[in-house]
This record gives sequence, structure tokens and C-alpha cells, in this order.
Amino acid sequence: MIEISGLSKTFGSGANAFTALDDINVEIRQNEFFTLLGPSGCGKTTLLRSIAGFVDPTKGSLTIEGQDVLPLPPYARPVNTVFQNYALFPHMTVAQNIGFGLEMQDRPKAEIKQTVGEMLELVQMTAMADRMTSQISGGQQQRVALARALAPRPKVLLLDEPLSALDFKLRKEMQIELKRLQSETGITFVFVTHDQEEALTMSDRIAVMSAGRILQIGGPKDIYDHPAERFVADFIGDTNFLDATLQSVDGDVATVTLPSGKSVAARAVQGGSQSGAVTLAVRPEHATLTKESGLLDGVLQNIVYFGTDTHYHVTLDAGSAFVVREQNQPNAGELCEVGDTVGISFEAGVGQVLRD
Ligand code: ATP
Repeated sequence: MIEISGLSKTFGSGANAFTALDDINVEIRQNEFFTLLGPSGCGKTTLLRSIAGFVDPTKGSLTIEGQDVLPLPPYARPVNTVFQNYALFPHMTVAQNIGFGLEMQDRPKAEIKQTVGEMLELVQMTAMADRMTSQISGGQQQRVALARALAPRPKVLLLDEPLSALDFKLRKEMQIELKRLQSETGITFVFVTHDQEEALTMSDRIAVMSAGRILQIGGPKDIYDHPAERFVADFIGDTNFLDATLQSVDGDVATVTLPSGKSVAARAVQGGSQSGAVTLAVRPEHATLTKESGLLDGVLQNIVYFGTDTHYHVTLDAGSAFVVREQNQPNAGELCEVGDTVGISFEAGVGQVLRD
């Protein structure tokens, strides 16, 4: 649906030049819920605005359904945008807001009426069709903004942090709602967020961005379980980083030696080294704590209880810190006490070797 290659954007010139996008390559598929995820200032909005036509890239190509859209102004592109602040018209009713884009396209009155009715139903706002948008809640405004953007049936809907103004509970509801709208309409969604949990729960695929570059693209589970770079492992969820030595690589499987001297199979990284010093990432919930010696040994420093799970902070014999997260079971006794010598183990294949 969208093919972006070698896309870069530099703002300003000379000493004031700033590269906001640096050689972006990505293909976004039809019907996909695709998320651009990264910290503030990494270039997510600039990339989204390049697709929309509000930003003119410095170089590279951008096609939608095979058509070069870079020469086209925003209104001539088969996309629509939902902005963070909704940008609704306060002097119009809910229904008038939703019909606005269709009016601009001079569609027949009967068609506009029917589409507005369908959109109201889709976002469950039929009962409020005649209210002014200044008289509805933030969550309802969000729904109207979505309906307005969906009404002209764009091929692609661009969403720039559309849930950030909502409170936590409403945000959770709207996450499910947005996912439903996407699968019901079959429209390709390109969604921008800096919230890793939001990205994991909603997306078919995620592109993780940092400093103007895409570091990794993959499904939520793939990105979470197999981060290719330290930044990705650190930005999404919690991770333990271990200094390890890569002994051998056979396809996807790497054999590494841990600081304890013990060896374990881990997942190799594409395009990474074949031997030598590497960093191994292990998620806290993928490791278990034992009273006996394990793959790693250390001393339990701290126990933090979180209700559903407990975090065990261990100082390894090699000096670094490691956190193990165990799910809590009712009526289970204390596993270990602070000051105990403990072992840490994890199964073959759960550790991920990171790219240098
Ligand atoms: P946020 O989550 O804070 O919105 P973002 O990842 O969407 O961040 P962008 O808005 O794409 O980031 O900005 C990327 C970088 O480009 C930032 O450092 C920003 O200051 C810079 N930038 C954006 N627009 C311009 C502009 N018109 N002129 C100069 N620099 C700009």
C-alpha cells in the first residue's frame, strides 16, 4: 500500500541543518495497523506528515498503491489524518463535522446523509448527531474526529497520537475501539505513539524509531521477544543486559558463554558478529530464581512486590545487576530472602544476542 525508500528530511541549512529523518525504508501493507513507535523527537510525526503531504522530504521516494505521491498536495493524496487535538469545528454539530469532507468533495446530498449515518453508527455516536462538538466529552470528540476522517473512505488513515489527550481508562477503551474500527473498515492505519504498551496491544506491525532512523520492524511479539538492538530492548519493556562471548552461530541459534563461564543457546541476530564479545538481552519474566546454583549466580539484594508479580533484584558474582520477575501464586511461601545466595536460570533460546 505504502512504499517508502531512502526517505530523508533535513530542516534548515548550513550550521543550523537538522536531519529529522535519515534514510527511511519501509513497506506498509494493505489492511495493516502499522505503528511508528519511538521517544519524543525521533521523527515519527515528520514521517507521518511526509506521507500526508505536509512535509516535503529532502530525498527519497514515497508511493501509495504504486503512485508517486510526492508531487501531490495533501488533499490530492488518498490519505486522511486524525490530529492529536482532533481539530473539530466547534460551531458545527457532530453530524456536520462528520459530513464536512464529503461536502468539500461535492458528493450528492443523499450519499452524504447515508455515509454520515453509517459513520455515526460505526463510532456509536448516533444519539449525539445534533449536538455541537463543544458540548461533548473528550472521548466523544475523539470518536467524531475518527468518523470525520473515515467518512471520505481514504485508503490510508494517519493517526498522530490520537489518544494522548484521554485519561487512562478511556484511553484503554479507545485502543480496543480503534483496533475494531480498523478491522471493520479494512482501511490501512498508520499510527504514531511514544507509548510502547499502546503499540504492542494495537499493532499488526511496529517500526521502532530513534534519532530519525527505523531500527527494527516487526510484529509486537517479535519486537518484544527478539529486539535486535539495545535501544529497542531498552525502550520496549524491561531487559537485563549481560556481557557474553559468542562461541558460534548456526542459523538463528547462537551459543554464548555467560559471565559465570556457563554456556547457553540464544537467538542470533541477523547481520551481527559471528564471534567475540556481545551483549545478551534476557527479559526479567523469562528468567527464574532458584536456591541452587543456576546459569548465573549472585546475591539477592531486594524484593519488590507488585501484586501480580514480584521483582527480585540480584547482584551477580560478576558484579552486574539482574532482575528476575516471578508471577505470584496465592498461598505460595517465600521463595528466597534478601541476602541469600541464589541461582538464575533461563531456557535455551530465550536470550537474544544484540547487534553491536
Ligand atoms: P513527539 O513525540 O515529541 O511529537 P516526534 O518523534 O514526532 O516527537 P518530530 O515532530 O517528527 O518528532 O520531530 C523530529 C525532530 O525534527 C525534532 O528534533 C524536531 O525538533 C525537529 N523538527 C520538526 N519539525 C521541524 C521544523 N519545522 N523545523 C526544524 N526542526 C523541526
